[in-house]
Amino acid sequence: MSNWMEALKKEIPDHQIMTGIADRYSYSFDASFGEHLPDAAIQAKSKQEVVHIVKVANQFNIPIYPRGQGTCLSGGPLPVCGGIVLDLSQWPEQIDMNADDLTVQVSPSVLTARINEEAEKHGLMYAPDPSSAHVATIGGNLAENSGGPRGLKYGVTKDFVLGLELVTPEGEVIRTGGQTIKNVTGFDLTKLIVGSEGTLGVITEATLKLVPKPPAVQTIMVEFNDVRTAGKAISRTLTSGILPSKMEFMDQACIQAVENFKPSGLPVDAEAIVIIELDGHLETLNVETILVENIMLEIGAANVSIPATSENAARIWHARKQVSPAIAKIKPTKVSEDATVPRSKIPDMMDRLHIIKEKYQVEVVVFGHAGDGNLHPNILCDKRDQEEMARVEQAVEEIFQAAIDLGGTLSGEHGIGTMKAPFMEQELGTVGLEMMKRIKDSWDPKGIMNPGKIFPEKGQKLVLRNG
Ligand SMILES: Cc1cc2nc3c(=O)[nH]c(=O)nc-3n(C[C@H](O)[C@H](O)[C@H](O)COP(=O)(O)OP(=O)(O)OC[C@H]3O[C@@H](n4cnc5c(N)ncnc54)[C@H](O)[C@@H]3O)c2cc1C
Repeated sequence: MSNWMEALKKEIPDHQIMTGIADRYSYSFDASFGEHLPDAAIQAKSKQEVVHIVKVANQFNIPIYPRGQGTCLSGGPLPVCGGIVLDLSQWPEQIDMNADDLTVQVSPSVLTARINEEAEKHGLMYAPDPSSAHVATIGGNLAENSGGPRGLKYGVTKDFVLGLELVTPEGEVIRTGGQTIKNVTGFDLTKLIVGSEGTLGVITEATLKLVPKPPAVQTIMVEFNDVRTAGKAISRTLTSGILPSKMEFMDQACIQAVENFKPSGLPVDAEAIVIIELDGHLETLNVETILVENIMLEIGAANVSIPATSENAARIWHARKQVSPAIAKIKPTKVSEDATVPRSKIPDMMDRLHIIKEKYQVEVVVFGHAGDGNLHPNILCDKRDQEEMARVEQAVEEIFQAAIDLGGTLSGEHGIGTMKAPFMEQELGTVGLEMMKRIKDSWDPKGIMNPGKIFPEKGQKLVLRNG
């Protein structure tokens, strides 16, 4: 370690280099499973510092793991092979608005919600809205291609990136894309880097697209006596000529968990609710609200509520945001998945989840962005109970298989990381996975950039148990 540490210290201040056990432990986990101690955690606060750190890592063959705020749910920033965790969260915030072009340039450390706050001052909106937007960085969002409820109408992070600055695994700086909405010059490296989970380099700047902020919104909450009807109602709405900005699903277990955690007036007897947000001009919303209400009642909804005030609407959305903390109270461990299926297959996926729950006797609750088929089946368990965790592992494997069987995907937004790597071949096939690996190998010949992620080791299995 002494050689590369000496080389690092030539340009990085001592207080940004952490090698004590307490600091290294702080960087050994994320919001998923597994703990791995790095040899050092280094905070980078400028492009020049990133270039220097990556060049040293490349020269001495040291693995390097970019990290934002560590809220990843798939193991992305975990230092599984030791080496350096590169903490980008302390980089000074930089948000340069260009309202006339509807673009904004940001540094990697910016918390995603801050971009929207700044955009709103100009009547604009940064649409991607992961639930973690107040605590996660845009660098992490870009690396994971994160999405949120508004993905239904507006798309996910990749749909809002015009250009990137990246430090390559060899320490070179490249710029991809640019400031323009259209750009077809050569391969689309911007789209390749977005969602590459820190395996192709360190993102040091991004140019993002903004859209006009819709002048009005309308919330509708719909109750169902069975989950299948809720699934059908989602498809029927989306094929009726109306495109809501959000369509969020909560099953009965989630509704009850929220009411036990922070009572919000949700209907605890409903088997499921779908919370809808329409956005646009007020006159259009008035018409669309009636249309949605009619569709829901025709298809068999038990009740449709239209909050009369923005405060009441905000209370419903707040309740939706409480699902994660509320279900975390049920059992100490939460295995959060994001398998995604074509929208017409939501009822089939719900059936498969029910079968899996019964077969493995595990506690599964379901919520998520049902409008785009992105469900979040969460298994509530106790990681100290090895026997239960063995059943949970089998249940998770079957959830992935169910999504693939139904024409869906392993991950709609949380990424592959370490958690889903063993299942990549199932979805992509041997050749599909090999083509991705070839891109990675030519981009990062020494394999130092976030090794152990996305691409499975031979025989690698999902392991949620300790030891
Ligand atoms: C309560 C909760 C709710 C969540 N809700 C959502 C949600 O609604 N939608 C969603 O999509 N996700 C959600 N997530 C997951 C998580 O917040 C996102 O994946 C987020 O993008 C991670 O950002 P981060 O700053 O924490 O990155 P980290 O967790 O630190 O890192 C994530 C990945 O990005 C890489 N990385 C980070 N910065 C850079 C960079 N500058 N250059 C290159 N690579 C980099 C890392 O190597 C790692 O692979 C949620 C997580 C939690 C805990």
